[in-house]
Amino acid sequence: MTTARDFINGIWTEAGDDGIEMFDPATGEMIGTAPRSGKAEIDAAVAAAKAAFPAWSETPAPKRGELLFRAAQIMERRKEELGRLVTREMGKVKDEALGDVQEAIDMAYYIAGEGRRLYGHTTPSELPNKICMTLREPIGVCGLITPWNFPVAIPSWKSLPALICGNTVVIKPSEETGGCAAAYVECLEAAGLPKGVVNIVNGTGEEAGDALVKHPDVHVISMTGSNETGRLVSKNCAEALKHLHVELGGKNGIIVLDDADLDFAVQAILWSAYGTSGQRCTAGSRIIVQAGVYDELVEKLAAGAKAQKIGHGWEDGVNVGPVVRPSAIEKIERYIKIGVEEDGARLVAGGKRPEMTGELAGGWYFEPTVFADVTPNMRIAQEEIFGPVTAVIKVQDLDEAIQVHNGTPYGLSGAIITKDLAASMKAMRALKTGIVYLHNGTIGAEVHLPFGGIKATGNGHREAGIAGIDFYSELKTVYIDYSGGLQRAQIDT
Ligand code: NAD
Repeated sequence: MTTARDFINGIWTEAGDDGIEMFDPATGEMIGTAPRSGKAEIDAAVAAAKAAFPAWSETPAPKRGELLFRAAQIMERRKEELGRLVTREMGKVKDEALGDVQEAIDMAYYIAGEGRRLYGHTTPSELPNKICMTLREPIGVCGLITPWNFPVAIPSWKSLPALICGNTVVIKPSEETGGCAAAYVECLEAAGLPKGVVNIVNGTGEEAGDALVKHPDVHVISMTGSNETGRLVSKNCAEALKHLHVELGGKNGIIVLDDADLDFAVQAILWSAYGTSGQRCTAGSRIIVQAGVYDELVEKLAAGAKAQKIGHGWEDGVNVGPVVRPSAIEKIERYIKIGVEEDGARLVAGGKRPEMTGELAGGWYFEPTVFADVTPNMRIAQEEIFGPVTAVIKVQDLDEAIQVHNGTPYGLSGAIITKDLAASMKAMRALKTGIVYLHNGTIGAEVHLPFGGIKATGNGHREAGIAGIDFYSELKTVYIDYSGGLQRAQIDT
């Protein structure tokens, strides 16, 4: 099975004796090490990416697209193997692990097609005998810093749009999931990408990540992770005025109105709250319920949470796998205590580690948890827990629901479940999030649409879709004046 390795200028390097230990969250067993690389490896990778840039950026975009199309085909052939690796390194369940890989496949096919578009605009001029248009140009070396929760998808969502635009990249994967990043890049290598175009440098955020962010030859940084890291990376990019995209935490709300089909609502909530064991930036961690159905929904949701099958992610029928590391369990437990003791909320399901047996006894599991009678300003309703914990809040009407929904610092994904079209439409406009789901939960993204959040979740850019291409290209505005004379914009009419 692929292990975490650096990939610099076409050469793979394994971890040395000081490698970063990697674990299988399902069993707690050590599964390997990732290179503890730092400034020297970042310097080498950036130099390789810089040297590869002129030829790659001059390769016609449709030809770049053909290579990425081939990478999609290779990933399709290796889908199950990559999925297993996802489960092994970060624990998510089989369907979701395969879905993680499928996101990369989808992105590769989608972005390969964009190689034949990469549209600019043509537009009339205010003057006669003049044409105006925009062209897209690559920017240079992009530094891509990724988290562990979508260990194949996120590296692909960042690197593929960057590559189709003609940039070269250095990926700094999460310390937990370097094997997934390596397997993904093996597919790009096998597709025939020239050496130096894609590089991977493992290592800690403080060393390898920081060196990448601060490298003077890296013009673009795209980072997904926690708000704390996002703020630091933003500060470090500001001095050099780098192009920067950060995608950060969420505290996503699902509104359920009195007229909702509750059985469906519970299904959607369970999927949103406990998919990836609640470790999705779009996880449904607040359920905002109208008073008329509140008691019934709490009861059904608690029953649903208790019925979730916890276990090894690759075992059929399991819907909740482990969380990523022991410190995640400790953080969840801190919030359970805060919810009960400080906030005074009512624990109606979960709240503790389950009893696991056999080899799973060493794994990092937590029961799907529901807090009821949560009020909007409680810490469990405001802060990202990043585990299988959701908080149910009672409201009287749609206006209050929207107000509660919008009352956190975050703004990634929001949802409403109701049969009332007008209420849905009102929520669609009023929810202060980058993504809105009508009649479903908060999770699930498609590659050809922009993905990202507002407020404390992001900094105004988007991943995926044309928005991703916008981020990884510079627009050059071109005026062609064929009048043969001097025409002055705004002056000559
Ligand atoms: P994290 O912030 O700990 O790490 C993310 C990446 O940043 C890792 O590769 C890490 O090594 C690197 N890093 C850490 N310190 C750095 C520094 N000083 N300079 C440069 N790089 C540094 O986050 P995580 O625990 O891996 O991921 C979980 C978080 O990610 C959650 O908050 C979740 O909401 C967020 N997330 C957001 C999205 C989104 O699209 N909005 C998607 C997935 C995850």
